[in-house]
Amino acid sequence: MSPLPPTEPSRDGKCPPPAPVQDDRAFTCEDVAHLLSGHAAGELTDLERVSVKRHLSSCRRCEREIAEYRRVLALARSLPPPTPSPALEARLRRSLADAVQGLTAESNALDETRPQRPLP
Ligand SMILES: [Zn+2]
Repeated sequence: MSPLPPTEPSRDGKCPPPAPVQDDRAFTCEDVAHLLSGHAAGELTDLERVSVKRHLSSCRRCEREIAEYRRVLALARSLPPPTPSPALEARLRRSLADAVQGLTAESNALDETRPQRPLP
């Protein structure tokens, strides 16, 4: 199989899509660097996952990096959902009440312009 040509920006100036993953060559750390966080989060395609796993089996550095990503993800997931401060909550409730009041007034105004008897 011939090697892929070097990637160049396409004519419309956009970056070319990443080269397709080939499974018949060894991946370097650079090759898998953009896949590590996705691997830790379980968001890779089967082919990408296999490629990363193959690289990880022989690369301690990337393995440590994946472990670090997993640790950060676990930490983020263990955090409680954010709660608004009492001041923000009060402000949000006031805004909501005002909005509801405005809608009610608007609805009442529409009711007054509506014909009292149904149209024939
Ligand atoms: Zn590596």
